[in-house]
Amino acid sequence: MSTTAPERKDFAANKRLREIMGEYFAQLGRGPAEGKKTAWCTSVGPAELLWAMGFNVFFPENHAAMIGAARMAAEVIPLANAKGFSPDVCSYLTSDIGAYVKGASPLQKMGLSGPPKPDVLVFNTNQCRDVKDWFQFYAREWNVPCLGIHTPRAIGEVDRALVQFVAHETAALVEPLEAVAGAKLDVDRLREVIGISRRTTERWKAVLDMGARAPAPLTFFDGTIQMAPAVVMRGLPEAADYYDLLLAELDQRVRDGVAAVEGERFRLYWEGMPIWGKLSALSGQMLSLRAAVVASTYCNSWVFEALDPNDPFTSMAEAYSSIFICRSDDRKERYIEEMIARYRVDGVIYHDAKTCPNNSNCRYGLAQRMMDRTGKPFLVINGDLNDMRLYSEEQTRTNLEAFVEQLDQS
Ligand code: SF4
Repeated sequence: MSTTAPERKDFAANKRLREIMGEYFAQLGRGPAEGKKTAWCTSVGPAELLWAMGFNVFFPENHAAMIGAARMAAEVIPLANAKGFSPDVCSYLTSDIGAYVKGASPLQKMGLSGPPKPDVLVFNTNQCRDVKDWFQFYAREWNVPCLGIHTPRAIGEVDRALVQFVAHETAALVEPLEAVAGAKLDVDRLREVIGISRRTTERWKAVLDMGARAPAPLTFFDGTIQMAPAVVMRGLPEAADYYDLLLAELDQRVRDGVAAVEGERFRLYWEGMPIWGKLSALSGQMLSLRAAVVASTYCNSWVFEALDPNDPFTSMAEAYSSIFICRSDDRKERYIEEMIARYRVDGVIYHDAKTCPNNSNCRYGLAQRMMDRTGKPFLVINGDLNDMRLYSEEQTRTNLEAFVEQLDQS
């Protein structure tokens, strides 16, 4: 076996990815001049409704992840702390608000002055309470409405009563949104957007399913880049079309036996948030260890299989209440067990993200229980999504090496 670390393999489809993402952001920038209203939406919020009502839709979490990946977070988080947001709360929130205070944004490299000013902000608490506090900051700042859906968390069964409650909360958004949009909701248009979103979801899931092949033609690290259209453009046809292109390339990789990690020896599962400022370093280390991170909870969080154009509000409610992050530990365990089996995983990495307890699932014994249940060893990485002051690169590097050595001996 060669001792030289293999290279990360780019996808030819990335050229198209850059084009559609560039056009998405350019459209956001042109919106006000073209008379389009802008809605800010949480990443697992009711985006379909907003697209259907003619809003340009902006996702601050995507912006915050860009701040993390651009390693701007350390310089801007203290500015949000000075506004009264604790260093312990979500570092997406503190990165984004800090960047706003500073007047800085990764979007400036794309010719925008920064995020487009919202006419309305729409959240769903299915992921955490932080998103509501985050959006309310901007609502106060710009005196615009902040609307939301209050989905419960730690859900066991997504039953009829729950779905009806969330569907009712979603439908209750329509009237105030119509007031902002200055137009009535066209339900046929909503059905159409949900149909597009459903198609995007199916294609995105098919992309992620490719990781079950051995060797895997893509990894979690590819997924963190490729997921952007599934998150921010899921109601637009360009997203679904893009995944058709990517799927064709992945099919070709499988036919040609092309591995994302040359000489794949171990298959791992990533549980929890990405460490945006260190993706490249982590991906490089995994390549050199010949360990492929073949699946993750995170990338699969934008698969909404319940969406149904024939039943818009109920199906949106079911889809957005079924996501991993708002489920009970019992449900989470069943999900991870199924993923371990489907992707033929050798071990699990849990990221304990210090400022996101909502998406750190190793704090109440789940990791140990999963090992007892599946026999698959695990490693906990202490870190954060954006705040790299909470992450030790050296310690993580050593722990990953030891973990892979342990897998080698088992
Ligand atoms: S789920 Fe975590 S990372 Fe996402 S917005 Fe909430 S606290 Fe922040």
